Amino acid sequence: MAPAFQPVLDQIAADIAARPGRGRPADYIPALAEADTSRFGMAVAEPDGTVYGVGDWRHPFSAQSITKAFTLALTLALEGEALWEHVGREPSGNPFNSLVQLEYENGIPRNPFINAGALVVTDRLHALTGDASGTLRAFLRAESGRQELDFDLAVAASEAAHGDRNAALAHFMASYGNIRTPVPELLEQYFRQCSLETSCADLALAAGFLARHGIRADGSSLLTRSQAKQVNAVMLTCGTYDAAGDFAYRVGLPGKSGVGGGIVAVVPGRCTLCVWSPGLDERGNSVAGVAALDRFTTLTGLSVF
Ligand code: GLU
Repeated sequence: MAPAFQPVLDQIAADIAARPGRGRPADYIPALAEADTSRFGMAVAEPDGTVYGVGDWRHPFSAQSITKAFTLALTLALEGEALWEHVGREPSGNPFNSLVQLEYENGIPRNPFINAGALVVTDRLHALTGDASGTLRAFLRAESGRQELDFDLAVAASEAAHGDRNAALAHFMASYGNIRTPVPELLEQYFRQCSLETSCADLALAAGFLARHGIRADGSSLLTRSQAKQVNAVMLTCGTYDAAGDFAYRVGLPGKSGVGGGIVAVVPGRCTLCVWSPGLDERGNSVAGVAALDRFTTLTGLSVF
């Protein structure tokens, strides 16, 4: 039987409120630097779409790198195993925007969740659909049931204005033939993708297919059971920047974080979670978010370990 999630969420919110130290918002994208670190929200969605929440769980925030889990799933669904010829699936141990591994690995990024790998995935999704960010937005709208879910074009523009590193990554991989979209068009798609404004409720619901072994909210199949397992595995090993080992140690779930302060996590077969608080640690993960997920798996015993 599923534990009663609402009392668990209420207890976590009280624990987090009593905890000192929230970290600092991402400041490399000016539009994110103003975020209020006292904000905290958390949602849990059951496989049938029942959703529970606490705090700011309906407040939209910048999804940022959390979107990389969804673009990976959408691309894997369309392209299958051939995707792995263009991007690896090993933890990088390097910061999310690192260039160093690309040269000695011939322009094939280590995994789909570092920026280089995410650019490759978005490039492939864009080639397959003609509109990667629009495809992603349509998917998130359908799965969350919130048709107003949209890009924040001010955040996308802010990121474009400070996007030299991502441009360098894309050009470098293009020189190896691992990017096919013209780089300016690819970067526009990628920055729009990252700018999607989503709430904890939206993302907990939208990730539901990962708890339902690949099945979408309407009962149709996005991924095979095996592919859903693969996406969860890559989230566990690579989903929280160069702190994935520590996240597995503390939380014990597949997760994907973003510099907007959100983290999505999956208990396969049981539920999906999303937590948000904009203060980050030095690796880029939400301080209160990781602490809240740690409390959740401790209180409920729901972890993959
Ligand atoms: N849009 C961000 C970047 O590429 C993603 C950052 C993140 O959430 O990791 O810099």
